[in-house]
Amino acid sequence: MIQVFMPLNFLGFVYREMKGSMANIEKMFKLLAVKPAIQDSEDAQALQAPAGVIEFHQVAFRYQAERPILAQISFRVQAKQKVAIVGGSGAGKSTLFKLLLRFYDVEAGAITIDGQDLRDVTQTSLRRAIGVVPQDTVLFNTSLLENVRYGDVTASDDAVLEAIRLAHLDDFIAQLPEGVHTEVGERGLKLSGGEKQRVAIARAILKRPPIMVFDEATSSLDSRSERSILQALAEIAQEQTTLVIAHRLSTVVDADQILVLDQGQIVEQGDHHTLLALGGRYAELWALQQRQQRSVDPVEMEPSDQ
Ligand code: ADP
Ligand code: MG
Repeated sequence: MIQVFMPLNFLGFVYREMKGSMANIEKMFKLLAVKPAIQDSEDAQALQAPAGVIEFHQVAFRYQAERPILAQISFRVQAKQKVAIVGGSGAGKSTLFKLLLRFYDVEAGAITIDGQDLRDVTQTSLRRAIGVVPQDTVLFNTSLLENVRYGDVTASDDAVLEAIRLAHLDDFIAQLPEGVHTEVGERGLKLSGGEKQRVAIARAILKRPPIMVFDEATSSLDSRSERSILQALAEIAQEQTTLVIAHRLSTVVDADQILVLDQGQIVEQGDHHTLLALGGRYAELWALQQRQQRSVDPVEMEPSDQ
């Protein structure tokens, strides 16, 4: 039994490491039989999330006593809405996601999904209801087909191929000599940042959770990859409640709601046109990115995200 011989400090290390990456935390706990810091309550029920309505009520949170990270965060995401979260680095965007996945409990307030407080439901059912597309996707040393099937190990080949198509991975795969059977990961073909994110999107499509959270990749994406990801995302977002951490504002133009986060607080809230008209923080960010965009546009960049 692996866990019997595993030194405790190593388990602690693994746990801390995994907290940073949302993708595989559940798998790792299972592998190592580590107890997470957050425990299910004794009478925890399975989450019922047919609609995928997310509500944050006056949420406050801090990692360390001396440093508040989020304060008075309130918002509601309706069924099948797409909500984008924007804001500078360190504003608390990823922390919002970690709270939604209940890697930590809120300090004040509450988070509910379809009216159920996250503290009252089992963590397994919670994480089953949420598909995560992380910034950096973990690939296993196996074929592309199996890497996508990881989203739902019971899925048929046909279902996996359909997910690949919806994630706009099929053009890329068509160029590979062994197609979907190409080995990827450490020992196989290295995928670019954009390709890896599309693998993650394909996994999430296969899983078909009512809620999807997407931590958009940053500058590692060339504009062609970005367009393709945006397209894939737009298709999924029609079926699911989608929360996107948007680094490029091109992602947010079609969002039903944009939350502008600054130093742990929501400073503006509304759709793209409303926020532009407001002439505040969002309008500033938008103008800035438009200028940056114009300065890179003359040369269409080649993929540089290996
Ligand atoms: P964003 O995603 O908007 O860049 P984060 O939510 O990752 O911001 O981080 C918000 C703040 O919380 C940052 O100041 C960051 O340093 C801090 N922080 C993030 N994770 C941890 C952690 N595990 N322990 C302590 N502080 C953290
Ligand atoms: Mg972040």
